[in-house]
Amino acid sequence: MNSTRGGLSCDVLVLGAGPGGYAAAIRAGQLGLKTIIVEGNKPGGTCLNVGCIPSKALIHAAEEFHKAKVISEDKSPLGISHTAPDLDFAKTIAWKDGIVTRLNQGVSGLLSKAGVTHLNGWGVMLDGKTCEVTIEGETKQVHAEHVVLAPGSIPVELPFLPFGDNVISSTEALSLDAVPERLVVVGGGYIGLELGIAFAKLGSQVSIVEAESQLLPQYDKDLSKLVGATLKTLGVEVLTGAKAKGLSDDKSALIVEGADGTMSERSADKILVTVGRKARLEGWGAENLYLDMQDKFIRVDHKCRTSMSDVFAIGDVTGEPMLAHRAIAQGEVVAEVIAGHRREFAPACIPAICFTDPEIVVVGLSAQEAKEQGHEVTVGQFPLRANGRAMTMESEEGLVRVVARKDNGLVLGIQAAGTGVSEMSAAFGLAMEMGACLEDITSTIHAHPTQSEAFQEAAMMGLGHALHL
Ligand code: FAD
Ligand code: NAD
Repeated sequence: MNSTRGGLSCDVLVLGAGPGGYAAAIRAGQLGLKTIIVEGNKPGGTCLNVGCIPSKALIHAAEEFHKAKVISEDKSPLGISHTAPDLDFAKTIAWKDGIVTRLNQGVSGLLSKAGVTHLNGWGVMLDGKTCEVTIEGETKQVHAEHVVLAPGSIPVELPFLPFGDNVISSTEALSLDAVPERLVVVGGGYIGLELGIAFAKLGSQVSIVEAESQLLPQYDKDLSKLVGATLKTLGVEVLTGAKAKGLSDDKSALIVEGADGTMSERSADKILVTVGRKARLEGWGAENLYLDMQDKFIRVDHKCRTSMSDVFAIGDVTGEPMLAHRAIAQGEVVAEVIAGHRREFAPACIPAICFTDPEIVVVGLSAQEAKEQGHEVTVGQFPLRANGRAMTMESEEGLVRVVARKDNGLVLGIQAAGTGVSEMSAAFGLAMEMGACLEDITSTIHAHPTQSEAFQEAAMMGLGHALHL
């Protein structure tokens, strides 16, 4: 790395080492570009430290505990019995933290392997080519030919329910000292349901307050109602069309306005507010740049270029869907664009998975969306209760659905719900990316017994002739 007038210079400066930033930096380093990445926290960003990974660890621990509890209550048909399980929650959190630490080290190792310089400090862009980085009270200027902005996102705070004390965001929910006895979740979207279900399985009494008329409003009703059934079994109270109004005077309860306008209170040890995330636009010098915005995100084109030359942006700061795999994909593309390769970010689809019980996977268009775009569609849907592997795993609640064009069978979208269906998302994504038709899926031999046979069967249904239904 060259030093210039007390500072550093490089080909590529990446601001933020979340999935977007670290992927961009690794690829840029691999391509031989002098690369510096600036990160104020631990490498891995929201996803690795306080998002995807810790939440999935907690979900897994909750599932294991819940399974043991169900068996101890003689509710298992498998002939297994054991005594009621105990939970050492501090140990659960320590296990989760151990995974995060291993992955932090993994990302650091990958960055150094690619020859990337990692500056562990907060960066502020002074202009489109200069970043001032504060490391342990000392500032350093970095001059870069190309800048990749990847500062990510932060949780949305409700003005009448500010974070603090017992009002928490997902970050605090993932590092609690104890399982809250009563947990009220405001917002029944991704985080609210993933964590709400996990805490219900860990023994919390959970209420979910969702403003829209259905949970997971971004998904179609057939899918979200399967999650609703689990919530019922777990004894979770669901209030849809309801609004959080603030805390009671003694701060021990959430005031809720029901769908019919009646006011009530839900007492809570913790109130988890998960009403969305927003681009992080403060604290890194956005005001010193001339960036065009799109809604409340940085506007980028198909090459992740912003309105300033040689300034790129990727990940959550550039908008929906705010998902780690989108950020990673943009990161890889942007490094290649900077290196002069002919690349663009134009995926056929970006899979979305909600790690609820059951899991939900969506790629491409729903039948409704396809119709709204003017397509005449055929829809094939196969229930997991007719799938042998699902039966052997006690996971019969769920389905796989394929939406295709009626005229030529081109697959437009795939949806699934069920235990472990997240692992099918790669096959769904590949089918969409390769422009598969229903016949491509039906004539691909799907190994038996696997849940993925339901994908083949759903495609057969689309052609009007499922074998096993
Ligand atoms: P981030 O991961 O937010 O990283 C940005 C980084 O920039 C941070 O490390 C921050 O410290 C750093 N930074 C910001 N400003 C500066 C500065 N001035 N100087 C230095 N460093 C700075 N997505 C999925 O795809 N699957 C999931 O299962 C999933 N689960 C989630 C669960 C939860 C609870 C949450 C909150 C999110 C989840 N997400 C999930 C979303 C996912 O975490 C984000 O989409 C992803 O992290 C975005 O990556 P990014 O690189 O854009 O930004
Ligand atoms: P979300 O957009 O998924 O859900 C927010 C929910 O809150 C919506 O259902 C909305 O209708 C509701 N809401 C909004 N204002 C409300 C209010 N005042 N009262 C009650 N309900 C209200 O947002 P999130 O759950 O906070 O997650 C943020 C983002 O993080 C997601 O959009 C996603 O991009 C990412 N994420 C992804 C995953 C995953 O991929 N599995 C998991 C967690 C988070």
